[in-house]
Amino acid sequence: MTLTGIGYDSHRLGAGRRLVIGGVEIAGELGLEGHSDADVLAHAVIDALLGAAGLGDIGEHFPDTDERWRDADSIGLLRAAVQMVASARLQIVNVDCTVVMEAPKLAPHRQAIRERLAAALGLERERVNVKASSGEGIGFVGRGEGVAALALATLESET
Ligand code: MG
Repeated sequence: MTLTGIGYDSHRLGAGRRLVIGGVEIAGELGLEGHSDADVLAHAVIDALLGAAGLGDIGEHFPDTDERWRDADSIGLLRAAVQMVASARLQIVNVDCTVVMEAPKLAPHRQAIRERLAAALGLERERVNVKASSGEGIGFVGRGEGVAALALATLESET
Protein backbone atom coordinates (compact mmCIF):
# COMPACT_ATOMS: atom_id res chain seq x y z
CA MET A 1 0.00 0.00 0.00
CA THR A 2 1.20 3.49 -0.85
CA LEU A 3 0.83 6.27 1.73
CA THR A 4 1.38 9.98 1.24
CA GLY A 5 1.89 12.81 3.72
CA ILE A 6 2.08 16.56 3.45
CA GLY A 7 4.24 18.93 5.47
CA TYR A 8 4.31 22.71 5.78
CA ASP A 9 6.33 25.03 7.96
CA SER A 10 7.35 28.67 8.14
CA HIS A 11 9.81 30.60 10.27
CA ARG A 12 10.48 34.29 10.78
CA LEU A 13 13.74 35.81 9.53
CA GLY A 14 15.76 37.78 12.05
CA ALA A 15 19.21 39.13 12.83
CA GLY A 16 21.79 37.16 14.77
CA ARG A 17 20.53 33.77 13.68
CA ARG A 18 21.88 31.13 11.28
CA LEU A 19 20.05 30.37 8.05
CA VAL A 20 19.86 26.58 7.87
CA ILE A 21 17.80 25.05 5.07
CA GLY A 22 17.66 21.29 4.73
CA GLY A 23 20.71 20.89 6.95
CA VAL A 24 22.82 23.28 4.86
CA GLU A 25 23.92 26.60 6.34
CA ILE A 26 23.56 29.46 3.89
CA ALA A 27 25.47 32.68 4.39
CA GLY A 28 23.32 35.78 4.72
CA GLU A 29 22.50 38.77 6.89
CA LEU A 30 19.42 37.18 8.41
CA GLY A 31 18.70 33.75 9.79
CA LEU A 32 15.63 31.83 10.89
CA GLU A 33 14.19 32.33 14.35
CA GLY A 34 12.93 29.39 16.35
CA HIS A 35 13.45 27.12 19.32
CA SER A 36 15.60 24.64 17.41
CA ASP A 37 17.93 25.63 14.56
CA ALA A 38 14.65 26.61 12.81
CA ASP A 39 15.44 24.53 9.72
CA VAL A 40 12.11 25.18 8.03
CA LEU A 41 12.69 22.60 5.30
CA ALA A 42 13.73 19.79 7.64
CA HIS A 43 10.61 20.53 9.70
CA ALA A 44 8.33 20.33 6.65
CA VAL A 45 9.92 17.01 5.62
CA ILE A 46 9.49 15.62 9.15
CA ASP A 47 5.79 16.51 9.09
CA ALA A 48 5.37 14.92 5.66
CA LEU A 49 6.92 11.68 6.95
CA LEU A 50 4.88 11.67 10.16
CA GLY A 51 1.77 12.48 8.16
CA ALA A 52 2.22 9.61 5.73
CA ALA A 53 2.93 7.23 8.62
CA GLY A 54 -0.10 8.42 10.61
CA LEU A 55 2.17 9.46 13.46
CA GLY A 56 0.89 12.96 14.21
CA ASP A 57 3.11 15.99 13.79
CA ILE A 58 6.46 17.47 14.73
CA GLY A 59 5.08 19.50 17.64
CA GLU A 60 3.83 16.32 19.25
CA HIS A 61 7.19 14.53 19.07
CA PHE A 62 9.61 17.45 19.46
CA PRO A 63 7.71 20.18 21.36
CA ASP A 64 9.24 23.66 21.27
CA THR A 65 8.62 23.93 25.00
CA ASP A 66 11.14 21.14 25.61
CA GLU A 67 14.64 22.32 26.50
CA ARG A 68 16.04 19.19 24.85
CA TRP A 69 15.24 20.68 21.45
CA ARG A 70 16.66 24.17 22.08
CA ASP A 71 19.02 24.97 19.18
CA ALA A 72 18.60 21.34 18.10
CA ASP A 73 20.08 20.21 14.81
CA SER A 74 16.89 19.52 12.88
CA ILE A 75 18.64 16.92 10.72
CA GLY A 76 18.94 14.95 13.96
CA LEU A 77 15.19 15.34 14.46
CA LEU A 78 14.67 14.21 10.87
CA ARG A 79 16.78 11.11 11.51
CA ALA A 80 14.62 10.36 14.56
CA ALA A 81 11.47 10.70 12.42
CA VAL A 82 13.00 8.33 9.85
CA GLN A 83 13.51 5.83 12.68
CA MET A 84 9.85 6.18 13.71
CA VAL A 85 8.79 5.46 10.13
CA ALA A 86 11.05 2.38 10.02
CA SER A 87 9.67 1.19 13.37
CA ALA A 88 6.18 1.39 11.86
CA ARG A 89 7.45 -1.01 9.16
CA LEU A 90 7.14 1.60 6.43
CA GLN A 91 9.64 2.36 3.69
CA ILE A 92 10.23 5.83 2.33
CA VAL A 93 9.84 5.90 -1.45
CA ASN A 94 10.52 9.55 -2.23
CA VAL A 95 10.30 13.07 -0.86
CA ASP A 96 9.55 16.17 -2.90
CA CYS A 97 9.74 19.64 -1.42
CA THR A 98 9.60 23.35 -2.18
CA VAL A 99 11.29 26.17 -0.30
CA VAL A 100 9.59 29.56 -0.67
CA MET A 101 12.21 32.20 0.04
CA GLU A 102 12.91 35.66 -1.36
CA ALA A 103 16.64 35.95 -0.65
CA PRO A 104 19.30 34.70 -0.85
CA LYS A 105 18.71 32.55 -3.91
CA LEU A 106 18.49 28.87 -3.08
CA ALA A 107 19.59 27.55 -6.49
CA PRO A 108 23.35 27.38 -5.72
CA HIS A 109 22.61 25.25 -2.63
CA ARG A 110 19.96 22.94 -4.02
CA GLN A 111 22.21 19.97 -4.73
CA ALA A 112 23.90 20.17 -1.32
CA ILE A 113 20.50 20.29 0.38
CA ARG A 114 19.30 17.37 -1.70
CA GLU A 115 22.29 15.28 -0.69
CA ARG A 116 22.01 16.19 2.98
CA LEU A 117 18.30 15.29 3.07
CA ALA A 118 18.83 12.09 1.06
CA ALA A 119 21.50 10.94 3.52
CA ALA A 120 19.22 11.60 6.50
CA LEU A 121 16.31 9.87 4.78
CA GLY A 122 18.41 6.89 3.70
CA LEU A 123 17.40 7.50 0.08
CA GLU A 124 19.20 7.78 -3.22
CA ARG A 125 19.70 11.40 -4.25
CA GLU A 126 17.31 10.87 -7.17
CA ARG A 127 14.47 10.10 -4.75
CA VAL A 128 14.72 13.49 -3.10
CA ASN A 129 13.77 16.62 -5.00
CA VAL A 130 14.26 20.18 -3.78
CA LYS A 131 12.56 23.04 -5.58
CA ALA A 132 12.97 26.75 -5.00
CA SER A 133 10.22 29.32 -5.31
CA SER A 134 10.01 33.01 -4.39
CA GLY A 135 7.35 35.26 -2.95
CA GLU A 136 7.33 37.60 -5.95
CA GLY A 137 7.51 40.56 -3.58
CA ILE A 138 4.18 39.87 -1.90
CA GLY A 139 3.15 38.28 1.38
CA PHE A 140 5.46 37.55 4.32
CA VAL A 141 7.93 35.72 2.08
CA GLY A 142 7.96 38.43 -0.54
CA ARG A 143 8.56 41.12 2.08
CA GLY A 144 11.52 39.12 3.38
CA GLU A 145 9.92 38.54 6.77
CA GLY A 146 10.13 34.78 6.70
CA VAL A 147 10.69 31.55 4.82
CA ALA A 148 8.18 28.78 4.14
CA ALA A 149 8.64 25.18 3.05
CA LEU A 150 6.33 22.47 1.78
CA ALA A 151 7.05 18.76 1.49
CA LEU A 152 5.36 15.64 0.26
CA ALA A 153 6.48 12.18 1.32
CA THR A 154 5.50 8.86 -0.17
CA LEU A 155 5.84 5.69 1.87
CA GLU A 156 5.25 2.05 1.06
CA SER A 157 3.89 -0.37 3.64
CA GLU A 158 4.91 -4.00 3.64
CA THR A 159 1.31 -5.20 3.84
MG1 MG B 1 9.41 24.71 12.42
